[in-house]
Amino acid sequence: MQIPPLLDPTHYPDSPYASELRRDFPDLRFSPALEKDFQAFHLGRTRSRVRFFQLAICLLCAAVALHFMIIDGIPARRVLVGWPGLAIPACLFLAWASWSSFYEQLYLPAARIALPLLGVVSAVGVASRMLNGHPDPFYFLTSYSIALFFLGGQLFRESVIANALMIVAHGTALAYAGAPVVSVVYYVSVLTVTAAVGAFAYRGVERQLRTSFLERGLMGEMAARDGLTGLKNRGAFDDHFPRLWQQGLRDRRLLALLLIDVDHFKAYNDRYGHQAGDHALRRVAQVVQGFARRPLDMAARYGGEEFVLALFDLSVEYVQEIAEQLRSSIQSLEIVHEDSPTAPFVTASIGISVVRPKLGRSPEGAVQLADESLYSAKRGGRNCVKLVDCDCALSTTGTFRRRA
Ligand code: GH3
Ligand code: MG
Ligand code: MG
Repeated sequence: MQIPPLLDPTHYPDSPYASELRRDFPDLRFSPALEKDFQAFHLGRTRSRVRFFQLAICLLCAAVALHFMIIDGIPARRVLVGWPGLAIPACLFLAWASWSSFYEQLYLPAARIALPLLGVVSAVGVASRMLNGHPDPFYFLTSYSIALFFLGGQLFRESVIANALMIVAHGTALAYAGAPVVSVVYYVSVLTVTAAVGAFAYRGVERQLRTSFLERGLMGEMAARDGLTGLKNRGAFDDHFPRLWQQGLRDRRLLALLLIDVDHFKAYNDRYGHQAGDHALRRVAQVVQGFARRPLDMAARYGGEEFVLALFDLSVEYVQEIAEQLRSSIQSLEIVHEDSPTAPFVTASIGISVVRPKLGRSPEGAVQLADESLYSAKRGGRNCVKLVDCDCALSTTGTFRRRA
């Protein structure tokens, strides 16, 4: 079955979400920028579970401390220098982090240290209790192993590491205290199998979560894309350009806007049909996209057979050079257009405005200037580039003239 181009990730070669979906992320890691976004998404999704887990574990630690003091009759001072003395502050800190407004910044780094530490300390504590004739607390370790995957809020790798440390600590503590080899092997095996089951199940959960994160991101990008050409759409341009304007205003940089209109395109459709017209538009769009090379530049489909290219911080001469290259690259596609009075191939006219953002000027004014330039390119015979440079012509008024 053919996938409609809008849903096909290969349709978005410059999308980081699509490229991770294509890669299938077997290592359960994205590129650094996307990984950071994913961790924030993951933390948001798991916050209520994490809060529940941290509260439960605080209560459990307090209950164990009371058990030691009341039932076992150990003095409070001795209890607090042992396992509960380390576990209770760690749990309280994680519980606070999970409820505080610093949750996103604080929780994962803190959990990366505190959760394995809690596991190791518990493993040692439980080993010594077991050798003193209390085997029951072992089941605390198996529960904690599963909770590390599903409730701790950490990702797969960190949960595996925390489990591994806990198992090694437990085995070492048992062996060090002189437990029979058979017992050490038995308890280490039980913990290892438990962790392996948890890891297997949680790996699937995390893969699913990562996939849904990428699909959501791709859908967000799709909403900003033009379905026919894959370029950013008019809405995305209207969103991007005022922000670029603000940046130009702050940094005192020039902004260039190129409006590109395919010549005699109605005649092309009439002669070759709409399907061929769509194909030609896609090819022209690819060329336009190739000229938006830097992070702040943007190519978009402005509407119908018109495209727009916004370029940041380039000199007037260089922008003219780029526009000329763009015009000639479109002609060099050699899309035959026998009904064009301008050339035997599909061509485009390009209107440019180069504006220094200032108070009293507006992004709409820059578009209007590019539109005027385009109008003049059309009147000037098409398949050419025209520029209205507002700094030269209009800097005394700070406003833009209207088309006559
Ligand atoms: P000019 O040189 O003055 O720009 O002439 P033109 O024929 O290109 O301009 P006009 O505005 O008269 O016609 C634009 C044509 O573009 C009409 C429309 O059928 C075609 N067009 C707009 N959007 C699409 C599209 O998505 N697919 C196809 N195949 N054609 C489109
Ligand atoms: Mg047009
Ligand atoms: Mg046209």
